[in-house]
Amino acid sequence: MTDCKEGHINLPRISIVGGGIGGLSAALALQHFGYRVVIFEQARELREIGAGVIISPNAMHALNFLGVGERVANEAGPAEALVTRHFQTGAVLKIRTADYAERFGAGYHQVHRVDLHAALASAVRCNDPDCVFVGHCFEDLTQDSEQVVARFTNGKTFKSDVCREPLLQYCKERVTMLGDAAHPMTPFLGQGACIAIEDAMVLARAFAAASTFAQAFSMYENTRKGRANGVQLASRRQADEIQGATPRGANPGTGAMERGLYAYNPVTVPLTRASETHSTIN
Ligand SMILES: Cc1cc2nc3c(=O)[nH]c(=O)nc-3n(C[C@H](O)[C@H](O)[C@H](O)COP(=O)(O)OP(=O)(O)OC[C@H]3O[C@@H](n4cnc5c(N)ncnc54)[C@H](O)[C@@H]3O)c2cc1C
Repeated sequence: MTDCKEGHINLPRISIVGGGIGGLSAALALQHFGYRVVIFEQARELREIGAGVIISPNAMHALNFLGVGERVANEAGPAEALVTRHFQTGAVLKIRTADYAERFGAGYHQVHRVDLHAALASAVRCNDPDCVFVGHCFEDLTQDSEQVVARFTNGKTFKSDVCREPLLQYCKERVTMLGDAAHPMTPFLGQGACIAIEDAMVLARAFAAASTFAQAFSMYENTRKGRANGVQLASRRQADEIQGATPRGANPGTGAMERGLYAYNPVTVPLTRASETHSTIN
């Protein structure tokens, strides 16, 4: 069980649009560093649907740091191997195994989405029981040098210091985005949720390290863009390989581990300033 961060919440108020895996991870990471967050979710209740999701070591580092890794690991089934099958015949194309904890310093788990979401949501609400607003579908926003005003389709508005919503670039003035809103990817590397969790961890670290929002957003974007966009493009290439869209026909492609994606640690990766931006994925 996570220790609630009672008395640890300080001034800037951050709105998060979307209470999915990325939004909740961002909320928890920001709360960890003392920020007040408010989450607006369009659904009438905060919940996930769907099946399993792989949480690989790169994302487990962040979940462990934020105090929910143990719960997620306990609720996950053991994932000893990743099996790639032909999408039409079901024939096994490749089996990938590793001692993940020993090799990467964190586990590899297949967890039900509902369990992962519930672990994040209860930790966030443990820190602040009133920070989630359901039934709030984001419509648009205005911002100036002082604040962001978000408007919702139910007619309500909310003022905050910074916000997160889908835009063409990660950050614009007092607004940034993460997860699928920033870099939607195909599911063929099993990394979309993991990358959203990485984004969340780095965003919160950037806030904790910077002295202005502009600096925090710049650090976040510069640290994350090469990594996240690189994985996004790699997931497209992997989709082509697995679905047989290349001259080679359907084949196992190059998995996330072989691409070195699990070696990334969002808790310790250096925060990058503008001049140091570079892509980390081929
Ligand atoms: C078949 C499949 C398998 C996958 N398997 C894996 C896997 O094994 N491992 C992995 O890491 N990733 C996997 N992914 C990817 C992963 O599910 C996504 O990348 C991840 O859920 C992204 O999180 P997110 O928070 O950015 O977006 P979401 O989870 O989509 O959350 C967005 C939230 O925002 C809310 N919202 C949207 N618009 C508004 C609005 N206007 N106002 C208010 N709220 C709004 C939505 O209701 C939702 O709750 C898979 C995806 C698919 C499709």
